[in-house]
Order: sequence, then structure tokens, then C-alpha cells
Amino acid sequence: TDKWIATPTRTKAILETYGFTFKKSLGQNFIIDVNILQNIIRKAGIDKQAGVIEVGPGIGALTEQLAISADKVVGYEIDQRLYPILANTLGPYPNVNILHEDILEADVKRTIDAHFEPAQPVHVVANLPYYITTPILMKLLRDHVPVTSLTVMIQKEVADRMAAGPNHKSYGSLSIAVQYYTESAIVMNVPKNVFMPPPNVDSSVLKLVRREQAPVQVDNEEYFFAIVQACFAQRRKTLRNNLIRHFKAMADKTIVSDTLKKAGIDETRRGESLTMAEFAVLANTFYRLIE
Ligand code: SAM
Repeated sequence: TDKWIATPTRTKAILETYGFTFKKSLGQNFIIDVNILQNIIRKAGIDKQAGVIEVGPGIGALTEQLAISADKVVGYEIDQRLYPILANTLGPYPNVNILHEDILEADVKRTIDAHFEPAQPVHVVANLPYYITTPILMKLLRDHVPVTSLTVMIQKEVADRMAAGPNHKSYGSLSIAVQYYTESAIVMNVPKNVFMPPPNVDSSVLKLVRREQAPVQVDNEEYFFAIVQACFAQRRKTLRNNLIRHFKAMADKTIVSDTLKKAGIDETRRGESLTMAEFAVLANTFYRLIE
């Protein structure tokens, strides 16, 4: 039926009515399968108590389903050509607010305070614009935006990196960055044919549940992330070689070996084999010795 926005016929009709053409540069791939959307919403754990933040409503395919399942939805959309369309397609849903803003510039904390009840659980649910997947998620995590979970459709390759553990080929500094703030899991793989137009890459739905507490104790977060990044700088190289490169300004090269020994970590290991707990010990040992 054409009851929903997320159908090929309804979507085509809307695009035609408004003469809308997709902008690749804005990552515009709209979903035309309502079952996929309802699955995403179920995986996100959305119920009638939930507040939802959506990034990039497009013509409102996901927004409409969220409006039905959640208490309230606030969407950030950057493309002004979509504003009159959204005003029309989402007209029947008074619990939806569309903000005409770039998510990367937005003060999301303030929006949450303004739109949701103080005790209300708020979730991010989105089919993200793929060209800025990582900046959007890292912004929301680093700014400690008070949301319970983030359930997002992103390119599969990035989802794999965000969910990977040690000794997995996708494991790297992005895995640590995301998993420091959240528990992450891929909850769905999604075929290309549910999008209009179909994207060039495979897609997955990643669910991130924000941690109440950091999983490891680090003396200095920025320093910790810098050490992690350094250990993965050249994946095939040992910790010792990557760290010597990182601390190249230091005259005494033996300090790297000595500090690794002190941290109890074999200098011939590679970054990909270290757990987050080991990275924390490593970073703290360097931090206390050198800084
Ligand atoms: N939610 C719709 C759906 O699932 O059919 C559309 C998803 S589409 C992959 C991404 C949307 O994000 C587009 O509507 C695009 O215009 C919007 N967008 C791109 N960059 C943005 C930004 N910086 N801030 C807010 N929205 C953005």
C-alpha cells in the first residue's frame, strides 16, 4: 500500500511533485522499505516513552515510523529544499519537530533540554549521511550528549571498525574511540535495494549503548587516544617501532622499550592485539613517566 512514505511509489510521487533531485554530496539515499525501518526502531528499543533525535530526515520515511512508535521526534535536516516537503509529509504528526540545522554545528544538548522531559530517555535513531558518519558519531560521543543509545544505519565497513575487538582485521583506533564511550554491536545488515538511489557501499545498522562509566581508568583521555592512534599508525609494525616514531622528538630511544617493559607489555606485539585495558595501562605508564 502507499500508506507510508517509505514505499517506492509514494517516494517517487513526492520527489516528482516537488521536482526534487538527490544530492550525492549530502549523502542522500532514502529508504523505501517500511519493514527495514520498523526493524531498526525495534532494535533501537523505542517505545511510547522515548524521545528520539534523528539526523537527516530526508523526506520523512524514518521520521514517520518514529513518530508512530515514540513519544516525540526531533530531526536535524541541512537541505533547505526538503523543508517544504517535510512540512507536508509530516504534517499529520504533531509530535515531530524538524530543525533546519547542520548536525555538526548544532548544540544537541540544548535541543534535548528544550524538547524533552528531564527524566525522559532519549535515543538517536538515524540513517546517517555516509560522508560524515564518523564526525557525527564522534561529536555526539565526545560531547557526552545525554542519550541512552544511538542506533544508526552506516556503511558496513565503518560499522565493522566501530564494533571490532582485538585481533580482528577491522580493529583500530576507531574501535577504541567508540567502545570507550559505548557498548557497540552490529544489529542488522541491510541490502542496497531498500534505498533510493542505492548507495555504492554495503550498509549495516550499528547500535551503540552509552556507558555510565568509562570501561578503563585513564589519567588523561586525550593522551590515551593519542597513544592508541600511534600504536595503529603503521599496522604491520610493532608497538616499539610505532611508539619510537611517535616519540621521535625524544633523544633517548631506550625510554620506549623501558616503559613498555614497565607496563608489562611485550614490545614486539602489534597494536591490533591489545585490549582496551592494555592500551589504558600503556598510556598511563607513558603519561606518568614522560609527561
Ligand atoms: N532519513 C531519510 C531516510 O532514511 O530515508 C534520509 C537519510 S539520507 C541517508 C541522509 C540525510 O541527511 C539527507 O536527508 C541529507 O540531506 C541529510 N544531511 C546531510 N548532511 C547533513 C548534516 N550535516 N546535518 C543534517 N542533515 C544532513
